[in-house]
Amino acid sequence: MNMQTLHVDLAQRRYPIHVGSGLLTNKELWLPYLRGKQVLVISDENVAPHYLPPIDEALQSDGRQVGQLVLPPGEQEKTMLRFSEALHALAMLRANRDACVVALGGGVVGDLAGFAAACWMRGIDFVQMPTTLLAMVDSSVGGKTAVDLPEGKNLVGAFHQPRAVIADITTLSTLPQRELSAGLAEVVKYGAIFDEGFFAWLEDHTTDLLARRDEVIIEAILRSCQHKANVVARDETEQGDRALLNFGHTFGHALETATEYGSLLHGEAVSIGMLLAARLSAQLGRSTVHDSDRLGALLRRLQLPVELPGGHTPAYLLELMRLDKKSLSGALRLILWRGIGHAEIVRDIPESNVLAVLRA
Ligand code: ADP
Ligand code: ZN
Repeated sequence: MNMQTLHVDLAQRRYPIHVGSGLLTNKELWLPYLRGKQVLVISDENVAPHYLPPIDEALQSDGRQVGQLVLPPGEQEKTMLRFSEALHALAMLRANRDACVVALGGGVVGDLAGFAAACWMRGIDFVQMPTTLLAMVDSSVGGKTAVDLPEGKNLVGAFHQPRAVIADITTLSTLPQRELSAGLAEVVKYGAIFDEGFFAWLEDHTTDLLARRDEVIIEAILRSCQHKANVVARDETEQGDRALLNFGHTFGHALETATEYGSLLHGEAVSIGMLLAARLSAQLGRSTVHDSDRLGALLRRLQLPVELPGGHTPAYLLELMRLDKKSLSGALRLILWRGIGHAEIVRDIPESNVLAVLRA
């Protein structure tokens, strides 16, 4: 086992993020985070066959009562219906207040499992075992949990921080390349908004990242999680600068909605969205075209899309951006930048400028 650890420091408590290889098969590492007797493991059909058996075995041999809920894969399963199935699974286990939910999977599993843990008996422990790069660097850290409604993504949810995050990069060996690149988009985001040095490091390591060289992937995850942990510690419930993490996301969510979540992965939509935000910043005279070109080049080298998919009018995309839950009372509020490493919240952006970048 090869492991490094950092912590998320909250007002009430702190929790560890362990990053390394061979972590899930090392039960001494994660069993202590599960306090009670009952454990519900939630996973999906792509992940469970590879990674659930050793976890189940470790739990059984430790004398735990184990429930399993294995969902079909995909965002369309992040529903109220699946959420209530998770609660019923906890009821079947007769889960007590010291029971624990384990989320073994990507962001979909993590969001749903976390929300079930947040609601069962007004909140029980949960442990994140993320298996996608995106979940390792983003959704498993920070305590946002939710399910979707037909009316929109993540509309029902809660802030509920995990007991621990166990990011075992061994699980990335089975992750499709396209999903890996989508996760890299969120990694690039941390460089773009907070850290020019990290951005330059990513520019120097694109080949190793795509080839999943262990040390390089571990470093990318650690540096990303450190930024996320810092911002979550400053602003746990997004009253202030946690919003910077939404760089590229208002554009991205509009694209995801416009394409009906069919053709673009979240990270891919964020890739296009970040470049649009950078171009808008340049157009407003807040940053240079050189920096947006650098961002576009890095994303392209990481095999991410950077162009708007055709078939959607700028006016329609703008309409969807206005509906984004981050824009307050209709006025457009976006995360823009002053250049690589320096994101900022900008209010009252003229719609004509937004339309212009959507047209270009
Ligand atoms: P994300 O983590 O990107 O938010 P998902 O939870 O939807 O999203 O996971 C993306 C896809 O990758 C899903 O189809 C999921 O089943 C699959 N997946 C997750 N982890 C792995 C893994 N380690 N190996 C293979 N497939 C995986
Ligand atoms: Zn995101």
